Amino acid sequence: MITITGRSVFGGIARGRISYYHRDEVIINKLKVVDPEREWDKYLLAKSESIEELKCLQTQATEDIGKNDAQIFYIHQVILNDSQFERLIYDYIMTKRYNADYAVARTAQAFGRILTKMDSEYIKERQADVNDISDRLIRHIQNRSGNTFELDGMSIICADDLMPSETVTLDKSKVAAFCTSGGSTTSHTAIIARTMNIPALVGMGAPLTEEFEGRFAIVDGYSGTLYIEPDEKTVKMLEHKEDEEGRKQELLRRLKGRKNITRDGREFAVYANIGSLSDVPSAIENDCGGVGLFRSEFMYLQREDFPDEEELFYNYRRVLEDMKGKRVVIRTLDIGADKNAEYFDLDKELNPAMGFRAVRICLERQDIFKTQLRALYRASAYGNLAVLIPMIIDVDEIRRVKEIIEDVKLELIEEGKSFAENVEIGAMIETPASVMLSDLLAKEVDFFSIGTNDLEQFTLAIDRQNPHYESVVPQNHLAVLRMIKIVCDNAHSCGKKVSICGELGADLSLTEIFLDMHVDALSVAPPQILPVRKTIRSLNLSDRRQIYNNIQQALKL
Ligand code: PEP
Ligand code: MG
Repeated sequence: MITITGRSVFGGIARGRISYYHRDEVIINKLKVVDPEREWDKYLLAKSESIEELKCLQTQATEDIGKNDAQIFYIHQVILNDSQFERLIYDYIMTKRYNADYAVARTAQAFGRILTKMDSEYIKERQADVNDISDRLIRHIQNRSGNTFELDGMSIICADDLMPSETVTLDKSKVAAFCTSGGSTTSHTAIIARTMNIPALVGMGAPLTEEFEGRFAIVDGYSGTLYIEPDEKTVKMLEHKEDEEGRKQELLRRLKGRKNITRDGREFAVYANIGSLSDVPSAIENDCGGVGLFRSEFMYLQREDFPDEEELFYNYRRVLEDMKGKRVVIRTLDIGADKNAEYFDLDKELNPAMGFRAVRICLERQDIFKTQLRALYRASAYGNLAVLIPMIIDVDEIRRVKEIIEDVKLELIEEGKSFAENVEIGAMIETPASVMLSDLLAKEVDFFSIGTNDLEQFTLAIDRQNPHYESVVPQNHLAVLRMIKIVCDNAHSCGKKVSICGELGADLSLTEIFLDMHVDALSVAPPQILPVRKTIRSLNLSDRRQIYNNIQQALKL
C-alpha cells in the first residue's frame, strides 16, 4: 500500500482506478513570418472560435455546477477580450513578426510572470486561467481538436494540476475523485470539485506520478489521504469511517429543508460562522440559515501585504451570491491581539488583547478601513449583506464608523458604482462597556451580535488563550448570562435583534435559556448547526410561567 497526503478540498470516501490526466503534447515553433497580417487573421479567427467554445462550456457548466461557478468561463471570455493581452499579441505578430501561436504563448508567459509576482494568492491562481486560455487559442491556431480524455469506469483523476475547463469537461458520472500534485483549496478546480460534491485533494506534491496509472485506490477526503492499493485493514477502517459519516449525513438529510422551529411553532435562525470563502460549502451543506459571522480578518493573515479592494470584493460577492439572498453578516477587520499580520506594522504591546486592535485600528488607519468598506458595499449589490463592527466600547465609535460608511457610499455614487440601500449595521457586544451601553448603542445600530468569547475574557478577567482557562473560570458564568439578558432587553426595547456568535452559542445546555431570553439567532461553526437545530426542535416554549421560572433560576434573580 502506498499513502500520499494532500490538502482536502471536499470530504467523502471515493474508490476507483487511478487515471492520470494526459494532455496532447503541443509543439510551438518560433518562426519569423513574411506575412504578419495572415498570422493576425489566424489569431482573430482562433479568438472567435475560442469565444464560441467558451460560451458552450459556460452553458454546460451552468447545468452541471450552477451559474456562479460557471462564471469562470465568462471570465475567460473577458480575458480574451482584454486590450492589454491582445496588444501584446499584436506586438509579437505585427511588430516583431512572429507566428501567431508563438505570439500567444509568449504573451501568456509574460502575463504569468506578472501574476506570480503578486502577493495575493487569489491573483496568483489566475495564472492557471491565463494558461487555459492560451492553450485554447493555440489549439485553434494549430487547427487541433480538443483533448479527449476517455474514462473507463469509476476513476480517481490524478494530475499535476487541472484547469477549470478540463475539470468541467470530464465525464462526471465516471469521476470518483480528483487528486492533484499542485493546486490550492481556493483554485477554481477546487471550487468546482466542491460544488460537484466530489472528494478532492490538492497539493499532493511530487509523490503523485503517472506510475500509478490504472491502480486501484481509495481517497479519504476527510483526512486528505490517497491510499493506493490499500491493505485490508485500511479498507475496513475506511468502510467504518464511511458508515459513521453516513449516519451523520442521515441526520443532516432529515433536518435539511425543514424549518428551524420549536415544538410550539417559534421560528429561530441558526447561522454559520465562517472564516473564508472556502468555509461556505460546509455552511451550505449543513443547511445554515445564512452566515452570522464572517471573520473577515482571516483574509488579511498569512500574507505579505494588504489584500486589495478587488480581491476583497470578489470574496465578499462570492459569499453573498453563494448564500442566494440569505443574510450574510460580515464583520469588519478584527485584527490585532492573537490575529496579527506583520505588514500592519503595529507597535509591540504588552497586552495586545487589550490594546490597539479591531475598530480602534480601523478608525485610525482609515485607508485600510475604507478599502474594506468599499469592497463590502460594492458586494452588497449581490445579496443580503449586514456589516458588523467588532470590539465596540463607546457610542462615539459607532457614530464615527457610520460617518466613514457615508463617505464611502458617496464615493461609490460619484463613481457610478451600485450598492444596496438596506445594509444593516451591527455592533458586536463583546466588552463589558458595550453591555453597559447597550441601551444607547441600540439606538445607533440595527442589530447586536454577542461575542461571548471576548465578553467572557474581559468580564471574567482571564485571557481566553490561557491554558488554565477552564479550570479557573466556572463554566457559563452567571455574570455573562446576566449580561446576555441585559443586552437582549435593551435591544428589544428599541426593536432591535440580538444574535450570539461566540462559542457559547453552540453550548446545547444553554440553548433553552437563550431562547427563553429571546435571543433572536445563534451563529455557530458549520458542523454545530445541526445539533443546535435538533435541540431547538425539541423545545416547547409555550408556557410563559415556565419561561419566567427558568430565567429566574438560571440567572439567580
Ligand atoms: C467573540 O469574541 O465571541 C467572537 C465571536 O469573535 P472572535 O472569537 O473572533 O474574537
Ligand atoms: Mg471577539
